[in-house]
Amino acid sequence: MVSIPDVTLNDGTAIPQFGLGVWRVPQERTADTVRIAIEAGYRHVDTAQMYRNEEGVAQGVRDSGLAREDIWITTKLAGSSHGYEPAMRALNGSLARLGTDYVDLYLIHWPGRDGDVDTWRAFERLRDDGRARSIGVSNFSARQLDLLGKETATVPAVNQIELNPRKPQHALREYHQRAGIATEAWAPLAVGALLDDEIIRQIARRRDRTPAQVVLRWHLQAGNIVIPKSVTPARIRENIDIGNFELSGDEMAAIDALGR
Ligand code: NDP
Repeated sequence: MVSIPDVTLNDGTAIPQFGLGVWRVPQERTADTVRIAIEAGYRHVDTAQMYRNEEGVAQGVRDSGLAREDIWITTKLAGSSHGYEPAMRALNGSLARLGTDYVDLYLIHWPGRDGDVDTWRAFERLRDDGRARSIGVSNFSARQLDLLGKETATVPAVNQIELNPRKPQHALREYHQRAGIATEAWAPLAVGALLDDEIIRQIARRRDRTPAQVVLRWHLQAGNIVIPKSVTPARIRENIDIGNFELSGDEMAAIDALGR
């Protein structure tokens, strides 16, 4: 079985560093996709209220035969549900669709216009109630994290941001490190655009790996939590098969240079 490390969040919880993203996976394909991923060794699924496939995620987990507590489930609050009461109601809706009484991680999907203080207070309450084991944000800038930090007591456990070798987000990652926020990478493969890159292809040939495996390995060694999406069973299996090789310092540097 594939061995994927955990990352310890600032609230002490351990999140599997690698998971399956299900944005743009149609509801009717989601259960099969999630089941196939779990059978391949995935233990972490990233969905959102906005993706309209939370029921499919629940069905896939049930079909896998694994217990709820064996799978890390992240979902995200939609932009239409910002504010204290709307956020409380929104998570109840997600929990009903996910067929569970808690999510492992609940994220504010996109920053709102109001600084998100009321929304974040709802998130703190949901965490205290045990309905969201960890709470975090997504697509927040350093300035937005600063503003939230001035008004509220809880530092987000995670900021999920667009991050890949072509968009390395150096400044924001340094901010996260100083603040104790884990960095989670969306579009880790640049939605496939990186897989034709000549540097990536050269390293893949030398290592007898695929370009996607090289990019995902770069993420793991950089310390990012990473959630590549695929609906293709062979790619789902290929993407998680990255535990048993290591990029050298020179290879990491060559990939880092793509972001300059
Ligand atoms: P990714 O970088 O994960 O790329 C997904 C694309 O790459 C799909 O077209 C997929 O094709 C293809 N692909 C996957 N694996 C391989 C492979 N081994 N070889 C060749 N092609 C491959 O982009 P996403 O935008 O989907 O990001 C991943 C996840 O991040 C999302 O699913 C979602 O969970 C999250 N996300 C969060 C956002 C946020 O605002 N917080 C925004 C965007 C994404 P196919 O499926 O056809 O196999």
